[in-house]
Amino acid sequence: MEKEKDYAKVWVNCLEIIKDNVSSQSFKTWFEPIKPVKLSANVLTIQVPSQFFYEWIEEHYITLIKKTVRKELGAEGRLEYSIIMENTYNAKPYTVKIPTVNKRELKNPSVSMPIDTGNAGIRNPFIIPGLKKVNVESQLNPNYAFETFIEGDCNRLARSAGGAVSKKPGGTAFNPLLIYGGVGLGKTHLAQAIGIEIKKEFPGKTVLYVTSEKFTVQFIDAIKNNNTNDFMHFYQMIDVLIIDDVQFFAGKDKTQDAFFHIFNHLHQNGKQVVLTSDKPPVEMQGMEQRLLSRFKWGLSADLQVPGLETRIAILEKKMYADGVELPKEVLEYLAYSITTNIRELEGAYISLLAQSSMNKKAITLELAKQMIDKFVKNTAREVSIDYIQKVVCDYFDLPMDLLKSKTRKREVVQARQIAMFFAKNMTKSSLATIGMHCGGKDHATVLHACRTVNNLMDTDKRFKNYISELEKKISLQ
Ligand code: ADP
Ligand code: MG
Repeated sequence: MEKEKDYAKVWVNCLEIIKDNVSSQSFKTWFEPIKPVKLSANVLTIQVPSQFFYEWIEEHYITLIKKTVRKELGAEGRLEYSIIMENTYNAKPYTVKIPTVNKRELKNPSVSMPIDTGNAGIRNPFIIPGLKKVNVESQLNPNYAFETFIEGDCNRLARSAGGAVSKKPGGTAFNPLLIYGGVGLGKTHLAQAIGIEIKKEFPGKTVLYVTSEKFTVQFIDAIKNNNTNDFMHFYQMIDVLIIDDVQFFAGKDKTQDAFFHIFNHLHQNGKQVVLTSDKPPVEMQGMEQRLLSRFKWGLSADLQVPGLETRIAILEKKMYADGVELPKEVLEYLAYSITTNIRELEGAYISLLAQSSMNKKAITLELAKQMIDKFVKNTAREVSIDYIQKVVCDYFDLPMDLLKSKTRKREVVQARQIAMFFAKNMTKSSLATIGMHCGGKDHATVLHACRTVNNLMDTDKRFKNYISELEKKISLQ
């Protein structure tokens, strides 16, 4: 008898192939957590952490997995899943330490710039030739380091440019480095990480993080106090200047002017400038042309909305840092529901911890759902599967119970497939739930239905029209 293949070995071989075919982020999120559990008669059983997980893999990676399993086990090779069900009923309430307040902006009122050297009378020593540089507080928040910044497709360019700049401040083509992107996508975090890394690698360099608002206020004060020279000199001696949210310079001509001169001085002297903004230079209004053209000298890198995998990774990292464990399904639910803004994602996570620890309630999917309903107010109300079924039935003039039955009559089958297709695309319900609502079908049937509808839309114009009419009706709830 041929010696039985070792299941662990088989899975390791599969992973090797898979690794080459998916991004490293996806690999980490979806494949590392899988455990092979047995192999008998060419059926490899793997264990996945949740139903959601299983569906995601089936939907996105099944072709790849099938191929690799067949390669390993021959044409007869098959795959089975074993799903660990989260036992939320027995989950204990989590007692958690709520992370220290708002880490977003470091407020340190004792440091006002241009700095006070503590040497009464000499407000700014830098204008005196030959005087040593005074230690400038960098104003950096240690929580915003590269170590806590998760990489994903959404931030790859900006992250790697940031890394390059940290290794050789002022010595790359990325000068200035302009990081732009929407609210809460990590601009401040990344800009600070660059500063932190440089401080670590080059302790002798003077790094300064400042928001454009603070810069503006200081400049106005300097005008009032008649010491704009000091102000200019102070900024011109910085080695790495990080200015956050430069869009606030818009319309402030004098401040822009001051910044322009500081920028030129630093740039000419090989010093590094890092800027962030909520828009790319071409879309910045109220900004002087000469300044905009400077912004374009280096690299503008954008931060985009993170994909599901990156959102999960960010939450996992936070949990780890806070020493908290959330049930996998809760984590997935959060990452799945909050899609556009990392700050909101973190906010939801923190309120969930707070709720649980204040009310001594376990963090369950139920609690997460209630909380998200309150938290994510502005998202459009989600249509329900029932509603979709009703619209589809009205449209094809079929009774609802027929659609919900198991019948295989042709006209019912198609309507049911269409309902599944919309439920998949317009609700957050799992494939299993959708299947259950539509005649007790399983997730594979739902997937098949979605593919069929997509194919028909590609090939049949009339069918495509049905679908778009239906879509309008469903959206008009
Ligand atoms: P922005 O400045 O673009 O508005 P922030 O840098 O303040 O956004 O980020 C908002 C929150 O999201 C911060 O708490 C930050 O730590 C977190 N965050 C953003 N991007 C990432 C990332 N890639 N990995 C981990 N945390 C992130
Ligand atoms: Mg910011």
